[in-house]
Amino acid sequence: MKRTLTFLTLCGFETMLVIAFATCAALAQETTPSYDIASPPACQNNKGEPVRFENQISPKAESAAGMARRDDKGAPVIYRFAYAKSPQSLQKFIDRHECAHHQTGDIDRPHPPRNSPDHMMNESIADCIAILRMRDETTDSQAQIQNVTMALRQAMDVVGFPPSTIDSRISNIDNCAQKSITAVEFIKAVLDHRATN
Ligand SMILES: [Zn+2]
Repeated sequence: MKRTLTFLTLCGFETMLVIAFATCAALAQETTPSYDIASPPACQNNKGEPVRFENQISPKAESAAGMARRDDKGAPVIYRFAYAKSPQSLQKFIDRHECAHHQTGDIDRPHPPRNSPDHMMNESIADCIAILRMRDETTDSQAQIQNVTMALRQAMDVVGFPPSTIDSRISNIDNCAQKSITAVEFIKAVLDHRATN
């Protein structure tokens, strides 16, 4: 009986409900976490050209994302999408990952088919360079690495990546962070290897 009454009462206040719902939606939007955007790192491609960073508004994106390419005029650029939606640790990691695609010259090489071994290799290399840079740029590198992997795991989960894909990406990043080599040395090794293959 009580349930019926409540139902009727709600129906009677339909207009108010609509207003209440709209208010809820607005509140939900306002409480979406918004982070300060990190300043971009220094970035030069393998030809010594400076790489520009550009923030893009992307209302539908669920978390920060990046894209490395040459713009219409041929200038190397990194587009930063929805950076305010992810913590700075992830923003910094994405910046350095995208920069790595410029540093290794991926941008000027034919793009391997999506998810092919060559493509996955390029992505693992970019992740490796990114985490080495972050490790060596900070004094609390352990905390940084942990923040990156946590934020990355969460972001990939939200987008719907299977747990196995997330796990193997994180384990590659963790392994790279243990390497006794700097990002610069690692990039040189990649470029040397590619020059002889
Ligand atoms: Zn990439």
